[in-house]
Amino acid sequence: MAETALLEIENLHAWYGPSHILHGISLRVKEGEVVALVGRNGAGKTTTLRAMMGLMPKATGRVRFAGRELLPLRAHQRFHLGLAYVPEERRIVPGLSVRENLRLGLVAAGSDIEERAAIDEIAETFPRLKERLDQEGVTLSGGEQQMLAIARALIARPRMILLDEPSEGIMPVLVEEMGVLFRRLRDEGKTLLLVEQNVEWALRLADRAVIIDQGEVVHEGSAAALLSDKAIQDRYCAV
Ligand code: ATP
Repeated sequence: MAETALLEIENLHAWYGPSHILHGISLRVKEGEVVALVGRNGAGKTTTLRAMMGLMPKATGRVRFAGRELLPLRAHQRFHLGLAYVPEERRIVPGLSVRENLRLGLVAAGSDIEERAAIDEIAETFPRLKERLDQEGVTLSGGEQQMLAIARALIARPRMILLDEPSEGIMPVLVEEMGVLFRRLRDEGKTLLLVEQNVEWALRLADRAVIIDQGEVVHEGSAAALLSDKAIQDRYCAV
């Protein structure tokens, strides 16, 4: 139990103006773990990720990543620590090619990895992007743009990746490919925090699951146990 966590959130509160959205979230993620963060619409999953990344107007509590306190840092400093974030809206930059969007991932993380080698390496992992490196990023299909957003987060070799609903609105064949990719990342020892509405899919990928409801953690346990517990899923995860 004394094992140190890579990410440790304690008593996290967050507000949008007068609306108090998170009411003391606490959770831990160990290095190499895949944790699914689930719960119904509006439960506070996205807000949890945004608060971790310094994107909420007001947040209090403690968020420690790799031994550093995150809340006082500026947003971009988190990327430099090896924390990557794939937001729900993907943010592929218009007017830039796939290659240029990937390059932004290196720049954001302050990485000194050589660009050409990094792009070649990531293109091997994402064959759909490899064929389209010089195409404008926003002309890709929705699913391919999601893959690009994930590749851009991975290119600087982060220690941990926060993913907000990566499977949303994506063709089943790409969701399947994404599942294979996440399993591979897990096997390589990457740490993932996966926010998902596609609960079953997320639970099949994850080691552990945390359920949030109305801005509080209401359940924590093994992903396999939650997968077979329909009653808790229906209570807290039904859309
Ligand atoms: P979803 O799957 O719908 O994104 P979620 O669990 O990620 O669900 P959040 O997006 O974190 O939920 O939203 C938590 C609460 O914060 C909701 O009640 C939502 O209405 C509110 N909220 C989200 N964004 C804003 C905003 N920009 N201003 C005010 N309230 C907001």
